[in-house]
Amino acid sequence: VLDRSNYHGFWPLLYQVATAGLEPESIAYPIRAILRHYPNVDFQLAEVHNINFKHKKVLTDGEAVPYDYLVLAAGSTNSFFGNDNLATYTYGLKDLDEAVKLRNRILVSFEMASRESDPAKKAALLTFVIVGGGPTGVELAGAFSELIVHVLRKDYHNLDTMQARVILIEASPNLLATFPENLQHTAYKQLEKMGIEIQLKTAVANVSNNVVTLKGGEEIAAATVIWAAGVQASPLATQLQRPLGRQGRVPVTPTLNLEDYPEVFVIGDMAYLEGYKNKQAYPMVAQVAIQMGKQAAANIVANIEQQPLQPFKYKDKGTMATIGRKAAVMDAYGIKLSGLLAWVSWLFVHLVYLIGFRNRLIVLANWAYNYFTYDRGTRLISGRKGEW
Ligand SMILES: Cc1cc2nc3c(=O)[nH]c(=O)nc-3n(C[C@H](O)[C@H](O)[C@H](O)COP(=O)(O)OP(=O)(O)OC[C@H]3O[C@@H](n4cnc5c(N)ncnc54)[C@H](O)[C@@H]3O)c2cc1C
Repeated sequence: VLDRSNYHGFWPLLYQVATAGLEPESIAYPIRAILRHYPNVDFQLAEVHNINFKHKKVLTDGEAVPYDYLVLAAGSTNSFFGNDNLATYTYGLKDLDEAVKLRNRILVSFEMASRESDPAKKAALLTFVIVGGGPTGVELAGAFSELIVHVLRKDYHNLDTMQARVILIEASPNLLATFPENLQHTAYKQLEKMGIEIQLKTAVANVSNNVVTLKGGEEIAAATVIWAAGVQASPLATQLQRPLGRQGRVPVTPTLNLEDYPEVFVIGDMAYLEGYKNKQAYPMVAQVAIQMGKQAAANIVANIEQQPLQPFKYKDKGTMATIGRKAAVMDAYGIKLSGLLAWVSWLFVHLVYLIGFRNRLIVLANWAYNYFTYDRGTRLISGRKGEW
C-alpha cells in the first residue's frame, strides 16, 4: 500500500472538523495500524507521480515500485472548472488540512469582526458563503449555523452575532439533487428554519478577495467562501496520459481493469464506469469505492487462479445527509425518512463505518458533549497570522 498520507481519513465527518465539532485525529486512523494484522501487507509513505504501464512500475517520490498487479485508488480533489480565482479565494473541504484551515478561517473571521469598527468590513467578515447544495454543502451549512447560534453567540458578547449570515448557493433548482423530491424539500425547510439563506438556480461566476460575483452580476461581500460545488479525479489520473471520462476519471472495463493493461485496476472516485441507474457513471461515494475494492481484489485472485473475472455489481445501500440537531434525511433500503429517526440512523451508520475503537469512543463522547452542552470543544485557531 502506497499513500502520501500515513492515515486513512473518514471524509463524511470532515465537515464536523471544519466546524469545531471534532478533532482532526478522531476521524483519521494510521494505515499501519489498520494493516498491522496482515503480515504479508507492507505500507510505504510515498507520493505516486505516474505509472510506467509497459515496465510495470509505480513511479514515486522515492524508488520506483515494481508490480504484477496494480490497483489505483487515489480518490478525488476539488474541481474549480479551470477558474484560478476559485482555487485561490475559496476554501475546499477534501482533506484534514483543508478542514483545519477552514476551521481557523471561521474562528479568525469572528475574532477580526469583533475588533472591526467599519460596518461594511464587519458584515463581510460575518458572511459565510457555501457554493454547492449537495450533501457536503448542506451538512456544512447546518453545522455552521449551529456553531454560530449555539456557541459563538455566547463567546462574543461585544459582537452582534445576529449579523452573521450563512448563504448556501446552488446552481440547480434543488438542494441534494440525488435525493427524492420530498426529502429535498424537507432539507430546504429545515435549513431555512435554521436561518440559512438559500439561493437556488444561482450560479457563481467569480470569486475575488472578499467578493462573490453571481452569474447575474449581483455581488455578495463575504470574507469566507467555501467551494463544495465540484469534484474531479485525483491529478494522478491526468498524469497517466490516457483518455479520461467525465470529471477526469479513468474509464475502466466492467471488471474494473484497463482494457489495454488488464493487470491494472482502477477503483473508487478515480474510476469511470457506467451502469448506475440508467447508465449513469457510478457516483463518487464511499460505498462504491468499498465495493469496487472488494471486487478488484476478488478479480485479482480469480486471475491468479485462472478463473474468469466478474463484472462489478453495485449494491446501493442508499444515501443520507444530516442537517443539524435531530434533523437529517435518509433514503436507504427503500425507506425514506427525515427528522429524529433519520438523524439517529445517520449517527449510528457513521459510528459503525468509522475505523478504530478509540475514534468511535472519542466521536461518541464529543457528540454527547456537544448535544447536551450545546458547546464545541475544538474552537482553536492553530498556526500564526499569514497561515489562515
Ligand atoms: C467532505 C466529504 C464528505 C463526504 N461524505 C460522504 C458521505 O457522507 N457518504 C459517502 O458515501 N461518501 C462521502 N464522501 C465521498 C467519499 O469519501 C469518497 O467517495 C471515498 O473516500 C472515495 O474513496 P477512494 O478510496 O476512491 O479515495 P479516498 O478515500 O480519497 O482515498 C484516496 C487516497 O489516496 C491517497 N493519494 C491520493 N493521491 C495520491 C498520490 N499521488 N500518491 C499517493 N497517495 C495518494 C490519499 O492520501 C488518500 O489516502 C465524502 C467526501 C468528502 C470529501
